[in-house]
Amino acid sequence: MSVKAFRGEILHFVEDPASTPCQDKEQAEQSSYQYFEDGILLIENGKIKQLGTAKAMLADLEHSLEIQHIENGLIVPGFIDTHIHYPQTEMIGSYGEQLLQWLEDYTFPTEKKFADKAYATKISEFFLNQLLANGTTTALVFGTVHAESVNAFFEVALAKNLRMIAGKVMMDRNAPDYLLDTAQSSYQQSKQLIKDWHGKGRLQYAITPRFAPTSSDEQLSLAGKLLKEHPGVYMQTHLSENLKEIEWVKSLNPDCENYLDVYKKHQLLGSRSVFAHGIHLCDAEYSDLSQSNSALSFCPSSNLFLGSGLFKLDVAQQHNIKVGLGTDIGAGTSFSLLETLKDAYKTQQLRGKKLDSLQSFYLATLGGARALDLEGTVGNFQVGCEADFIVLDYHATPLMKLRLEQCQSLAEKLFSFTILGDDRAVKATYIQGELAEVNCD
Ligand SMILES: [Zn+2]
Repeated sequence: MSVKAFRGEILHFVEDPASTPCQDKEQAEQSSYQYFEDGILLIENGKIKQLGTAKAMLADLEHSLEIQHIENGLIVPGFIDTHIHYPQTEMIGSYGEQLLQWLEDYTFPTEKKFADKAYATKISEFFLNQLLANGTTTALVFGTVHAESVNAFFEVALAKNLRMIAGKVMMDRNAPDYLLDTAQSSYQQSKQLIKDWHGKGRLQYAITPRFAPTSSDEQLSLAGKLLKEHPGVYMQTHLSENLKEIEWVKSLNPDCENYLDVYKKHQLLGSRSVFAHGIHLCDAEYSDLSQSNSALSFCPSSNLFLGSGLFKLDVAQQHNIKVGLGTDIGAGTSFSLLETLKDAYKTQQLRGKKLDSLQSFYLATLGGARALDLEGTVGNFQVGCEADFIVLDYHATPLMKLRLEQCQSLAEKLFSFTILGDDRAVKATYIQGELAEVNCD
């Protein structure tokens, strides 16, 4: 039996600060999190055993137990990225286009390379090291159309003992021939990948139609069939990101009332379905997402980079829709969820809305876990959760040290992390209580 204890400043969320049922906003926020200025996180066999103040816990701990002290840092649960494409790592910052042209000019030629498993393995290794360096311990990940891209990714993720969800892209039309599968082959290959990987270690599978324009009706209906045949498996796709895309979806599906309706028709909504973007949604789409308990992935850095639009976070919240954060690499411009939160803040400012730092940290941790239907598994320090956590460094850069010394409250400190922080602010990443080796060469 392995027991470990970490002592220092600790924060985690137990509720959504925006929706805690309290009259008083301040009280609601306070009951949404637990914060220990001098706390102890006790871990047994990779899972959270206990969390409390050092004062209360020290007397009961075995005297022989070595306690690791964390100084000038804040222990928080590992970040959760609910939308990211690992094969697009090498094409971050591809210039000048909006979604559809950007896919054609940059994405498709890059994804072609992942037919080669050795190449896919090399990029998976690089990608997962980037996630860990940025404090992201769980992600919902797109592969390419090639089954081998997913085999490569899962092999590397398994060796690192990570909780990752991924899937093979299903795409049988409106893309270059070299990237197309067929409805039948995508069904067979996805089925085989589910059999090989879903539930192995901490890995889970996501059925992954790229988006409505690149899947025929037959393919989407087989995706729905897969979802029904394999309870517990995820579904990830894109929704309503760009205005031209929405027009295109309408012209391809004249029988559907709106974009989401295309997925709904094929039974792709549900508590393990995650739709990336959802920027330009109508009321009927918001209510269908809410009623089906589907999640939206909010990807502000990508939305700004591709000029897609501003996500309506408050509207999604009013409809009680689960929302997680996504970097959407490679349309997103950073692997860091801290940098993503900086962009999230700015997108809401442009809409005349505020995104406070408690809500931000909730979205990056427990909010992401809820979006992925993983509450109780990761996302906070509830007893029994897997001990994936990170240490944020108050002294990461001279500027952060100077700024953070001026901060009076926890909310101010968290806000400084989101505005000034990036991978340098992540001092260490722990996977099931073990310090992760991060190799970013
Ligand atoms: Zn995407």
